[in-house]
Amino acid sequence: MPPCQIEIVACLSDNYAYLVKSGASCAVVDPSEPGPVRAALARTGWKLTHILNTHHHLDHTGGNIALKEETGAQIVGPGKDAARIPGLDVGVDESSSWVFDGRKVQVLEVPAHTRGAITFVIDANAFTGDTLFAMGCGRLFEGDPAMMWTSLSKLMTLPDETRVYCGHEYTQSNGRFALTLEPGNAALKARMDEVNAARQAGKPTVPSTMGLEKKTNPFLRPDNAEIRRSLGMEKADTVAVFGEIRARKDKF
Ligand code: ZN
Ligand code: FE
Repeated sequence: MPPCQIEIVACLSDNYAYLVKSGASCAVVDPSEPGPVRAALARTGWKLTHILNTHHHLDHTGGNIALKEETGAQIVGPGKDAARIPGLDVGVDESSSWVFDGRKVQVLEVPAHTRGAITFVIDANAFTGDTLFAMGCGRLFEGDPAMMWTSLSKLMTLPDETRVYCGHEYTQSNGRFALTLEPGNAALKARMDEVNAARQAGKPTVPSTMGLEKKTNPFLRPDNAEIRRSLGMEKADTVAVFGEIRARKDKF
């Protein structure tokens, strides 16, 4: 089967929705608002058949109802959050075997940003919503550091070449924060140069890869010696260090 085609759709001020096209099927992941998704569909000529939501927040579901009314697309999202996903048709969790145009879609339950948050993995593409960002992670609105660390650890089991499509363009500020903890990380510095150049040129910094995130994302690196030294937490346990990184980012 040929790979899916993926289109990045910028929405609101810094959200990303994604069109995922396979055969006669086309899904939109996290439509914040209908307008830019309509425009991307018109541009590509693709016919919307599915709407996928990673979590219930309005900046990821705001386009659900209008797009469903206009196209008849089926809405697929976290079954555990059925009551909070507008227009949900198919609730999925880790045990579901939801298939998109013949592709078995892996659903990972990754709670903490919200209780019901999920990541969709379609082939080697992970749609992480607000759980894992490029060099960052989501805020802990409905979970604690231990829960988020468990969720991120689950994502880290994906192969390094997995492309990471996240919910927001927060990369530059995430990277600036990362450098405060790990100024000696050469991969991080090199990545920041690329990110700054991309933003300068008005280009998105997504997708990244799981391998690159493992090397440069401080939220995946609480056991790193330089990060621990920066925090004065050389001997603390992993979740405590992770929690401190999250707390500092909240104030950054
Ligand atoms: Zn969110
Ligand atoms: Fe969001």
